[in-house]
Amino acid sequence: MSSSRHRSTGILAVGGGPANLSLAALAEPIGDCAVSVVESRTSVAWHPGLLWGNSRLQVSSVKDLVSLVDPRSRYSFLNFLHEQGRLYRHLIANPHFVSRKEFDQYFTWAAQLLGAYLDERVEAVEHDGTRFVVQTSRGRWFADHLVLGVGQVPCAPAFTKTIDSPALWHASRHLDRGLPVEGKDVLLVGGGQSGAEVALDLISGRTGLPRRLTWVTGRDGLSPLDDSPFANEWFNPSYVEYFHALPEDQRAGLSGRQLGAIRGVTQDLLAQVYKRLYELDYLTTAQFGHRLLAGVELSGLAEVPDGFRGSLLDTVSGAEQEISADLVVLATGFRAELPAFMEPLGGRLPISGDAYEVERDYRVRWDGPDANRIYVQNGARRTHGVGDPNLSLASWRSATILNSVLGREVYSLKDEDITLSVA
Ligand SMILES: Cc1cc2nc3c(=O)[nH]c(=O)nc-3n(C[C@H](O)[C@H](O)[C@H](O)COP(=O)(O)OP(=O)(O)OC[C@H]3O[C@@H](n4cnc5c(N)ncnc54)[C@H](O)[C@@H]3O)c2cc1C
Repeated sequence: MSSSRHRSTGILAVGGGPANLSLAALAEPIGDCAVSVVESRTSVAWHPGLLWGNSRLQVSSVKDLVSLVDPRSRYSFLNFLHEQGRLYRHLIANPHFVSRKEFDQYFTWAAQLLGAYLDERVEAVEHDGTRFVVQTSRGRWFADHLVLGVGQVPCAPAFTKTIDSPALWHASRHLDRGLPVEGKDVLLVGGGQSGAEVALDLISGRTGLPRRLTWVTGRDGLSPLDDSPFANEWFNPSYVEYFHALPEDQRAGLSGRQLGAIRGVTQDLLAQVYKRLYELDYLTTAQFGHRLLAGVELSGLAEVPDGFRGSLLDTVSGAEQEISADLVVLATGFRAELPAFMEPLGGRLPISGDAYEVERDYRVRWDGPDANRIYVQNGARRTHGVGDPNLSLASWRSATILNSVLGREVYSLKDEDITLSVA
């Protein structure tokens, strides 16, 4: 493809993750709403570095790209199974959970049907007075509106960023970048869901067993994810409406208190890790040792000729201890980041803290014409609540954006019942 290629679209959806696939799927039946999805990867793989064969979808499969706002859409997960001729077998094989791998297949199927542009990275966004001019790795787009759906980026302690070693990797690259662990001294940092998934993989024997695993978490322990019914109501559109209307300081207070609903580890995974450690400790002759350190943070790390030396800070006592390791895995989470490709628009988009200012309908404030709008998906946790990155709200948010762009109620988003009093 020539780099001078020029194409035009109504909405350019930057990023081909579930958020923008949902937008394109819901836009398709609307006659006057062209959405073009541009994805930098060669496939729409869903967090491929953490996509184990047996990892479970953490939400109901009804929370797919479309069903919660348009259950009759051909882009539903159910229709994917139907078209693949595996609906009956799926129901027999998966009475309790759906695998993330199957949802990844579903997203890939939807992206193909929707004609997503793969292997095309958005590099710079400008505005020529009447439309957005978007430079990509494959050419140029002219667009009336932009929807940013670039997801979150891995985050890691600053002192690790200067270390360039294949023996240090972020959990997000575990399956494609991780080295074999057989006989190694492994340090795993982070006690959230991805930390626990990596831990289970490290002790599974997939690439051999480590000689020693030191697993540190800054939290008080390996806490369960709060997946209880009332916490799940925070992922209800009516709760988002309530949350958004609160003053900034009250939203911040609530967000801090609700982290258990997004930062813990599923009970089932905790049980699997515990069981596997028990097996290794008592039921095998494996030469394997482990230390789980809670309330402990990695406070420094350096590469040395035979691996790594680091320091661990006990956040309870304030004491520091040295540690050495052959391999280090950082399961230190993800965070939203302002995309560098928006920099040419400079100060035209006011920024609050580390995020754009986002309206109730996910419109980003900017000083350009109203005929050219910018929306953001999965970048408004501060204003829209803890549910923002989750699949639960993806189809509702996409429908909200489409209604807003088109200035009419294409999708009927009536108030959802909720038991929590949010009057
Ligand atoms: C391991 C893991 C498992 C998860 N499991 C669940 C779950 O079971 N249930 C749930 O509700 N949530 C889950 N989540 C939360 C997750 O945030 C959402 O599921 C979902 O991936 C969010 O979709 P998104 O489209 O906003 O972002 P992403 O899925 O991150 O997609 C963003 C896309 O934008 C692309 N992109 C970035 N920059 C550019 C650019 N400049 N040009 C073009 N393309 C670009 C990226 O390549 C990426 O494909 C999980 C998260 C992780 C990390």
